[in-house]
Amino acid sequence: MSESALYVVATPIGNLQDMSQRAVEVLNNVDVIAAEDTRHSARLMAHFNINTRLISVHDHNERQRIDQIIDLLASGSSVALISDAGTPLISDPGFVVVRAVREAGYRVTPVPGCAAFVAALSAAGLPSDRFAFEGFPPAKKAARKQYYADLADESRTLVFYESPHRVLESLKDMQAVMGDERQVAIARELTKTFETIHLAPLVELIAWMEADHNQQKGEFVLLVHGKPKPEAGVVDNNSLQVLDVLLEELPVKQAAGLASKITGVKKNLLYKLALERAEN
Ligand code: SAM
Repeated sequence: MSESALYVVATPIGNLQDMSQRAVEVLNNVDVIAAEDTRHSARLMAHFNINTRLISVHDHNERQRIDQIIDLLASGSSVALISDAGTPLISDPGFVVVRAVREAGYRVTPVPGCAAFVAALSAAGLPSDRFAFEGFPPAKKAARKQYYADLADESRTLVFYESPHRVLESLKDMQAVMGDERQVAIARELTKTFETIHLAPLVELIAWMEADHNQQKGEFVLLVHGKPKPEAGVVDNNSLQVLDVLLEELPVKQAAGLASKITGVKKNLLYKLALERAEN
């Protein structure tokens, strides 16, 4: 018997050996398992010899199931929540249930394990100190392009899930707004037979995928290098233009001072550049 609580249990994203011992124990010991798709999860249960009763909880019946789950918890029973793969709530159902159960005053506790975006980030070779997990981009082209445009200046690594039907188009939309040279990784079929992680500038990544249709199949995580912050000491073109216009009318020191006020670039830096430009 598990202590009465809602256990949010992660399951494998491909390789069944990634199922944790604790996940098996909890799923065996709870009274009911609430699963996104009971037929899908029945196979996992069979593999691990788990005979606990399964009920379905998906996007369409989440609200109705809440009462049932809360009644179970109120009677001292324990419930596990699982999704088809990976961690529930991560681009998967469960949020409404978890919030309602917590609001009703019952314990919710995680049994952590796989999440495709963490696995991808851990092996792609892109900065992982700061990242933004974005889930699935919009399915429609115009909305997707706008969405990528809104993210183009983000300096953190961006992580997306994408379906195999849209992955190539999605990368092309990204290329249109982030440019050919942005470093992007695809992490495909993680933990499975055809696992592939490939990092390249967008223009090369797209050509590589187009040249091999097999690389367009399966499950994908896309990871995008954040936009590099301008290096200290490098002055952008707009600021240089301001400086040049002012140099036409003013002495070097005044031009640099005024340009600094207008652009926010350090005065010393602009003064050095102004001297160089005045000499040439
Ligand atoms: N809850 C899951 C998790 O914790 O990662 C995600 C569920 S979401 C409905 C499914 C998406 O996750 C797939 O379309 C794909 O983008 C990504 N994904 C799941 N398994 C994957 C794998 N083995 N390799 C690469 N991406 C995967």
